[in-house]
Amino acid sequence: MKIYNTAIRKKEEFNSINKNIVNMYVCGPTTYNLIHIGNARPMVVFDAFRKYLTSLGYQVNYIQNFTDVDDKIINKSKEEGIGPLELAAKYIGEYSKDADSLRVDEATLHPKVSENIDEIIEFVSTLIRKGFAYEVEGDVYFDVKNYKPYGKLSGKNIDDLKSGARVDIDDKKKSPLDFALWKTAKEGEINWASPWGNGRPGWHIECSTMSMKYTNSPTLDIHGGGQDLIFPHHENEVAQSEAYTGKPFVNYWMHNGFITVNKEKMSKSLGNFFLVRDILEKFSGEVIRYFILSTHYRNPIDFNDGALIESEKSLTKLMNAYTHLEEILDKSTENKADILFEEFSLIEGKIEKALQDDFNTALAFSYFFDGSKVITRAINENSYSKEGVEKAYSVLKKYLVDILAVLPFEKIEELPVNADDSDIFNKVMDILLDVRNMARKDKNFAYGDLIRNELAKLDIEIEDTKEGSTWKQK
Ligand SMILES: [Zn+2]
Repeated sequence: MKIYNTAIRKKEEFNSINKNIVNMYVCGPTTYNLIHIGNARPMVVFDAFRKYLTSLGYQVNYIQNFTDVDDKIINKSKEEGIGPLELAAKYIGEYSKDADSLRVDEATLHPKVSENIDEIIEFVSTLIRKGFAYEVEGDVYFDVKNYKPYGKLSGKNIDDLKSGARVDIDDKKKSPLDFALWKTAKEGEINWASPWGNGRPGWHIECSTMSMKYTNSPTLDIHGGGQDLIFPHHENEVAQSEAYTGKPFVNYWMHNGFITVNKEKMSKSLGNFFLVRDILEKFSGEVIRYFILSTHYRNPIDFNDGALIESEKSLTKLMNAYTHLEEILDKSTENKADILFEEFSLIEGKIEKALQDDFNTALAFSYFFDGSKVITRAINENSYSKEGVEKAYSVLKKYLVDILAVLPFEKIEELPVNADDSDIFNKVMDILLDVRNMARKDKNFAYGDLIRNELAKLDIEIEDTKEGSTWKQK
């Protein structure tokens, strides 16, 4: 299998350190808000990739952190009037609901910063001792000038970076590129005791500490995340990790591309910010998953209303093929002319080749559309055998159900906003009012009242006038 490795900017053959095990770490969300479509992309991409590695026989040790200590969390917790860890726990719960809808499995482990403070303090102390970090008034910074390969992951030149770096007046660090490993606590902020006084970790240090701790290895097979994390986050992870261990930190760096909205960068200020929770009201999680995986993971994706509608249409074609196969699974007999077996053996080979080539899910899907046409033809021409149907079904099941996890799916039918929109509902109400009027004519007021009271519980109000009875929704 070939993977595009960001560190060398080309594809290379994948070999794990231990033959059957893959240690894979992916940066998780900062848990202060519901996740948006941009957050969903790495979740879905690396979940599908993990499922693929598992199908190849690897035992995947998949670690994804939750950042539960951060400025954004502290600010939001003040707004919501609850403690920062309580706020983070709330949004970790919300994250899990969205992950379930997107068929993203739980990671092997989801470590949190707040549960790894001792390890982080040990890491920072070691960096100071080795001369890669320094303390200033309770803050600890990584000393970039002492780590010569700085910039190697992102391909940035240190001098360019220095001249472009923003320098704050109150900066206590020696060089603008130095980054915080530990921050002294401001008044009233969450903090832990450390050799440098009460404070909390900087952002980057958590990923280095937790990835090594939970894989029990100084070198990861794969580290993943969005392209926006390459610099400075992942550059800093490499620097501090390799300074700490003296060994390579990551063998393969995998980064997913951006999601733009109508070709613009997604941002709260532009008002083009789409929460997964809101999208799920109109489209199933599988449609969102298909939307993400039908583009190669390194390419940019543009999100707009039409794109999800198109994704739903495409996925419906695959769903129909899958349903038709299920229907003929028991009906098929042994001795018929068959066009499925050979065709799906070929398709399986092509799909496997696409996924082996830097996990090209976009190409893999195109073969499934070819396959769905063959299924339609086999059914129309009655040319399928038991063996052929079973083969086709097993290929769809393996890739579309288990690895890419976009099938089966149910279309979300939008409910009528108002009873007026529904013909059937209006007709049923007419029948009910007729029955009630007949009961009242027969002086059977108990029936009449029963209908009125039961409808009232559904917020439907009946009004009796001289011209007859009418109803309305409250
Ligand atoms: Zn990270």
